[in-house]
Amino acid sequence: VLGLCLCAAAGLGMHLLPGGAPVGCTQEDLADTRAVMAVQASVSGSTDARSGAAADKVVYLTFDDGPSATTESVLDTLKAEGVPATFFVMAADNNEEYLPLLERTVQEGHLIALHTCSHDYKSIYKSPDAYWDDLQKLREKLLPYVPADQEIKWLRFPGGSTNTVSHRYGGSDIMKKLKADAESRGFTYVDWNVCAEDSLGGHPSASTIYNNIIREVGDKNTCVVLMHDTNATKNTAAALPDVIRWFKNAGYRFDTVDHLEKKP
Ligand SMILES: [Zn+2]
Repeated sequence: VLGLCLCAAAGLGMHLLPGGAPVGCTQEDLADTRAVMAVQASVSGSTDARSGAAADKVVYLTFDDGPSATTESVLDTLKAEGVPATFFVMAADNNEEYLPLLERTVQEGHLIALHTCSHDYKSIYKSPDAYWDDLQKLREKLLPYVPADQEIKWLRFPGGSTNTVSHRYGGSDIMKKLKADAESRGFTYVDWNVCAEDSLGGHPSASTIYNNIIREVGDKNTCVVLMHDTNATKNTAAALPDVIRWFKNAGYRFDTVDHLEKKP
């Protein structure tokens, strides 16, 4: 049922990181779209390659679709490497039993963000109301583990903010409406500009996942890396130590998406 969070969406990169050419994921979405990315937010000071000053290189590791049977392994690696990450979580029948792991996730300094409750494109993208009802349901399911006083203001749309799969269910302007709603409701949506391509069929190996990430980083100083945390993505967890060390060696610092600067 998962694995739907493929690298989707149309080439854009408009509200994206300054100077970054829209590269990104080239895998086909479920439908027919290509290439991704867009981070509504952008980071200042990341592209000043000519000033002579060392550019601020930052990587935001993000995990979608958890928590899952893989989460503890991911958390163990993040802890061993001493780096934070962001988890865009869901709460459907197949992963709800893992929600208590969010307590540890929060305790260890990671950011919990919203993805979807059901992850069912057909229902969540039927209408804006359907989407926000689903998100509210998710928030309620998280309450025992992420208390209400910890406001969660970050979200990632399944398929990304420019996905076209949603058009089948909610019409061609559904994402436009949802993006406007997000803003008026005080949410920041976060896409990605580096995709691990780890939720495709065929279960890519850890080394394939590692190579996908490094290839897509290219010369980006700001990287929002999309990975998955599901029962089926154990190879992502296996690749993670090497991925983290690669970013460390390349001079990146690690942060959570609440520190992405929102574009004016
Ligand atoms: Zn997803």
